[in-house]
Amino acid sequence: MADEKTAPLLTPVPDDDGAPFWDYAARGELRIQACAAPGCGELRFPPRPCCPHCQSFDSTWRRMSGKGRIWSYVVPHPPLLPAYAALAPYNAIIVELAEAPRIRLVGNLVTSADAPLDSADPARIRIGARVQAVFTETGGVTVPRWVLERP
Ligand code: ZN
Repeated sequence: MADEKTAPLLTPVPDDDGAPFWDYAARGELRIQACAAPGCGELRFPPRPCCPHCQSFDSTWRRMSGKGRIWSYVVPHPPLLPAYAALAPYNAIIVELAEAPRIRLVGNLVTSADAPLDSADPARIRIGARVQAVFTETGGVTVPRWVLERP
């Protein structure tokens, strides 16, 4: 097991539809599934077989800039389960992507890719703050995390 301060307790379990997301993340790329039908091209998240706009089953994975804004966040307070208490004060943030504000990803705000989950000062977290995706490997899976554009 990786460092207890950085390892998430819930490691993603990729399914067939979402596997490319994790494969690209392992290369340090944030990609979102996009419809590949001519004239559509809508992004969709979470990944799924069929486009809800045009019902096409054709898809591609479009690279995102990794830029976004904090749409919402939470800093859990005690009482916490013992394993979580060891990581506190940590945060969970929801990020809306710059290219697709209606697509929102859940993650953690940290001070650098491999920094501990409690590395970001909860008092500095603001809704609307600009963030950038970074990637770290943990539990055998590379996950996106987020750092402030202006720390
Ligand atoms: Zn479509």
